[in-house]
Amino acid sequence: MTNHKPSIPFLDLYTINGRYHEKLKSRFSDFLDSGTYIRGGFVNEFEEAYAKFCGTQYCVGVGNGLDALTLILRGYIELGKVNPGDEVLVAANTFVATILSIKYSGLKPVLVEPDEKRFNLDVHLIEQYITEKTKVILPTHLYGQLAQMKEINEIAKKNNLLVISDAAQAHGAKSNNGISAGNFGDASSFSFYPAKNLGAFGDAGAVTTNDAALATIVRSLSNYGSSKKYENGYLGVNSRLDELQASFLLEKLKDLEEDNKIRRQIAKKYLSEIKNEKIQLPFWDGSENHVFHLFVVRVTNRDKFCHYLEEAGIGYLIHYPIPPHHQKALKQFSNLSLPITEKIHKEVVSIPLNIGLENYQIEQIIMTLNQY
Ligand SMILES: *Cc1c(COP(=O)(O)O)cnc(C)c1O
Repeated sequence: MTNHKPSIPFLDLYTINGRYHEKLKSRFSDFLDSGTYIRGGFVNEFEEAYAKFCGTQYCVGVGNGLDALTLILRGYIELGKVNPGDEVLVAANTFVATILSIKYSGLKPVLVEPDEKRFNLDVHLIEQYITEKTKVILPTHLYGQLAQMKEINEIAKKNNLLVISDAAQAHGAKSNNGISAGNFGDASSFSFYPAKNLGAFGDAGAVTTNDAALATIVRSLSNYGSSKKYENGYLGVNSRLDELQASFLLEKLKDLEEDNKIRRQIAKKYLSEIKNEKIQLPFWDGSENHVFHLFVVRVTNRDKFCHYLEEAGIGYLIHYPIPPHHQKALKQFSNLSLPITEKIHKEVVSIPLNIGLENYQIEQIIMTLNQY
């Protein structure tokens, strides 16, 4: 493998965030002046703004996306809607954090094959996995494209299951009837990890829901299980949204809708101008249901293709090289047969798609892929 720096990096956060540097310096100065460092006015303001953005009644800021999901699951256990040991249906090809959150809350992940076209939970397979123990369907909106929420919500209703979405890659994705990621089913989790479509400058996350009881319990669980100082109703954790990150996120939230639009424009251009039968392009219906957190193509000889990109100076990443059931940490799933998941993990490559790309770089990426 050659190791030169790509001339088009996969993602250059310093450049992308450059437009905020002055505003963030001023926000930092306001933060210093406020004298409140944990759960002050900026966290409240962000929670309100983000709930409004998602169309939900509640948003609770937490430390990161993994905790957001874990605290939702733990919250529903505390509320008696789910019992320890119950089963949670999850896409086998999701990011490992989705599966970890299920393990950490004492529940049992049941890995369901994805739909090859959308990379999301295959809605035609869900029902055959439902048992007496199933309590939750947990779709991820992988790569920024909404899972098929209408179908999932119908199955959940018929079988009396909760629907909890991992929306860590899909800030702002909208269904055709105008429902936003974060507002499907019972509750959703978000991550504001710096590389996400809405990225902080460190770790940050949130839970969105219309369920008042869940919002209250997540808030308490994220703060030592306490809603009143020094009184602990639950065995909680310390996972709070940082005051400074909340202030920075408020600044970036203003541009999220526009940023997503730019991402979709680049995706549209890739989809119409990359023409190479050796490269399979992602499926998209052209609607706002995709915010292209990642633009993921598929190739059969990935090593060769990646080597070609390296030679051409184009950055890439693989999301993800090892499926969760083949991870050492999850070896109890290692004898599962998940051929679609395994095939996806062998073939996917993410090419640069972000708001920092210049037009000439987009052209260069298209040309390079067409010449492969
Ligand atoms: C990023 C991500 C997470 C985890 O978020 P963190 O903030 O890093 O804990 C969970 N699920 C998915 C699908 C993600 O992309």
